[in-house]
Amino acid sequence: MIYRPILSTIFAATFATASMADEVNVYSHRQPDLIKPLTAAFTKATGIEVNVAYLDKGLVERLLAEGDRSPADVILTVDISRLAGAVEAGVTQSVASAVMEANIPADFRDPDGHWWGLTTRARVVYASRDRVAEGEITTYEDLADPKWAGRICTRSGTHAYMTGLTAAVIKHLGEDGAKIWLEGLRANLARRPQGNDRAQIKAIWAGECDISLGNTYYMGAMLANPDQVEWANSVRIDFPHFVGGGTHVNVSGVAMTKSAPNYDSALKFMEYLTSPQAQEIYGETNNEYPIAPGSKPSDLVSSWGSFTPDPVNLMDLARLRADALRITQESDYDG
Ligand code: FE
Repeated sequence: MIYRPILSTIFAATFATASMADEVNVYSHRQPDLIKPLTAAFTKATGIEVNVAYLDKGLVERLLAEGDRSPADVILTVDISRLAGAVEAGVTQSVASAVMEANIPADFRDPDGHWWGLTTRARVVYASRDRVAEGEITTYEDLADPKWAGRICTRSGTHAYMTGLTAAVIKHLGEDGAKIWLEGLRANLARRPQGNDRAQIKAIWAGECDISLGNTYYMGAMLANPDQVEWANSVRIDFPHFVGGGTHVNVSGVAMTKSAPNYDSALKFMEYLTSPQAQEIYGETNNEYPIAPGSKPSDLVSSWGSFTPDPVNLMDLARLRADALRITQESDYDG
């Protein structure tokens, strides 16, 4: 009998129905329901089966443990920190594809081809419809203005969504400027940072604060949840921009694993995922923004307004994350 490591056994069980040929194995941080419409459409068009293992966490650790024998071809995840982290861990490989280069603008992919953005989410201001006038806040820099004293709620400054934004602030204002910004923002907080993005909007609904920071797709998630729809209706999305820049965005993305036993099929799947049609399906399912030239967000997402993404390669922000975390801790943001 052949010895099988436990991880392979888990994997074999996960993908027990897969055939040996013409398949792609995906490790996904995204919920299966979010990617099912895409995998079904891809299989219908190509005959290639897509097997998805949903991993709540530990995706990179699992790939490292499996090494060359990993059955995974493709990883799907969100946030530049996770994408850059997978590249740094050495579990991805560079892919060259004229199709994907045409579909994904250069700011939203790794210059070395290790990860490719599929959709974006903007990190925006949620503002009380009753207590904040339209146009009252237009820039990220404004958040540090003393006029907002006691009126802002945010989650922990050390969360990846916050350090991503703070990295962008460093990019625009330099580290010293970013420290002053963080201290100004902290001084404006209505309460100690706590909870997730939606908890801040709930706090606005409850009258505890007037503005918060959150990712755009949470508006869609709250509108779809009967327990949260009132929170959603109490706020408006305002798209701030950096002075002389655009709105901070992050990505969901895809990467080819280093092992990729089904390389050719996996490349076809990645090319399909980057197509404008697939991005629109993906964007609609998750209330995110497709990024392929000519693609459009859903009617719901479009109704929140439009913005210009900050023109910066996300890899530049990934490199500034450690500095962002350090200055957040130095300023005792959560304290
Ligand atoms: Fe989220």
